Amino acid sequence: MSPTCRSGVELLMDYLEGVLAPDLRAALEQHVAGCQRCAAFVESYRRTPAILRTATDVTLPPDLARTLQAWLHNRPRRDDQQPD
Ligand SMILES: [Zn+2]
Repeated sequence: MSPTCRSGVELLMDYLEGVLAPDLRAALEQHVAGCQRCAAFVESYRRTPAILRTATDVTLPPDLARTLQAWLHNRPRRDDQQPD
């Protein structure tokens, strides 16, 4: 399985949360290494690691805020996610 940007966003969150399976993590790291878009996403997340939990306390650049909001809306719900 080779992650694309489309599947990558979901995988990226698992990756950044440290819960991604090792084989998937390796595949994702390969993708990120060659993908500016995903690399920027990872970089942004790492600079503000609590962004998803403290979004109201963080002033985001409009582009990043819009990207994150769109992503949050599109993200499939999981049983273990905190409620809105
Ligand atoms: Zn990508």
